[in-house]
Amino acid sequence: MDLTLPPEDLEWQHRARVFAETVLFPQELPLEEAGHLSAETKDAMRRAVIEHGLHGINHATEVGGRGCTQLQQVLISEELGKSTGCLWAVVWHPAVPLKHGSPAQIEVYLRPSCLGERRACVAITEPNAGSDTGMIATRADLRGNRYVINGEKWFVTSADAADYILVHALVDGDLAKPTLFLVDKATSGIRLKRAPKFMHTYVFEHHELLFENVEVTPDRILGEVGQGLDLTKDWFVEARLQIAANCLGAAIRAFEVADTWAGQRVQFGRPIRELQAVEFMLADMAVEIMAAKSLVYRVAWEIDQGLNRKLAHARASVVKLHASEMAGRVVDRALQVLGGRGYMRENPVERLYRDVRVDRIWEGTSEIQRVIIGGQVARRGTGAFTQWPGQSSA
Ligand SMILES: Cc1cc2nc3c(=O)[nH]c(=O)nc-3n(C[C@H](O)[C@H](O)[C@H](O)COP(=O)(O)OP(=O)(O)OC[C@H]3O[C@@H](n4cnc5c(N)ncnc54)[C@H](O)[C@@H]3O)c2cc1C
Repeated sequence: MDLTLPPEDLEWQHRARVFAETVLFPQELPLEEAGHLSAETKDAMRRAVIEHGLHGINHATEVGGRGCTQLQQVLISEELGKSTGCLWAVVWHPAVPLKHGSPAQIEVYLRPSCLGERRACVAITEPNAGSDTGMIATRADLRGNRYVINGEKWFVTSADAADYILVHALVDGDLAKPTLFLVDKATSGIRLKRAPKFMHTYVFEHHELLFENVEVTPDRILGEVGQGLDLTKDWFVEARLQIAANCLGAAIRAFEVADTWAGQRVQFGRPIRELQAVEFMLADMAVEIMAAKSLVYRVAWEIDQGLNRKLAHARASVVKLHASEMAGRVVDRALQVLGGRGYMRENPVERLYRDVRVDRIWEGTSEIQRVIIGGQVARRGTGAFTQWPGQSSA
């Protein structure tokens, strides 16, 4: 079994590391202090993404992307995840369902999104529909040759940076017809309700949006009427792996900061790393990171080998659940090793502590990941999670 990363994968990892260290890290403190970055800075970062060749990594070169494998995407997201303020978000990943667009939609939406000329945000969650998408109330009613969308969407991440929205709505209010619509943000009837503040300092914003008689033509339906939930499933797999890889990066950075500090900080006449209580915290961090990394890389690799869609969905839940909870524990221990300094906002570990908390909530809470995993255990048996690739199911 050869687990060595090939040179081209290492090259992607290196490219992302250089980008994180030279483009993202310098903006961490300005972002934390001001709560936002200027439009000029964000535009310079957008251009830097292209200069470093990190645009559209999750889409094929034929549509303007970089055609990275899932494992390469994970390696990149791990490096970017080391940044605080969720600055990894400046590197756009056009939503996976866009590849199911019509040829015209690919030219108008996907290709320019890969090239950084357009940007999407995704609007699924509503005031009464979070984990339970069956409660979605936003509807799209066919009137003449137009769909008319009405509803309210919450937590629309990067809505301020986006110029179009993937809106999840029920055609004719029918629960059997969940559908994704491509809606230009400038369309009449879209209103910003609120831009609330969150626990993390996020480089963009999470808007609450109102859709009031927003008219779109049928050619703005992505895929088909009723395909909305199915299309978002593939997106969840990729997004959950990306979150897991970000968490891995966050945990590694916190571990490194804590390890360095433990060697420098002298109390009671010796570096604190010589105190077994501190040494054990570092040891636990090492173990947790190593286990999570093995899991994240393995599942990304399996997907590249053609893992079936349902298993990919189930295993992406395992990866997201494990890595996000791991990051919470590791960053918490790192902060403890740093003592009072770890509680200061100028310290990256304090910022990571706030940043990783949402990873147990968005793209499906930890409880929802357990619901998915438990359901698969019931349906497929324990082997779905205990077998190694290549091992027979007999
Ligand atoms: C910063 C941020 C950014 C976000 N970005 C986006 C975005 O861009 N687009 C978008 O559409 N959404 C976005 N979301 C929404 C996010 O996906 C939801 O917050 C998440 O799915 C949980 O929904 P909820 O907040 O309504 O919690 P609820 O669903 O109300 O859950 C509340 C609690 O109940 C638990 N619970 C619910 N159902 C079950 C169950 N069946 N079994 C066990 N426990 C359960 C949950 O795990 C949780 O602990 C974002 C959220 C945040 C915080």
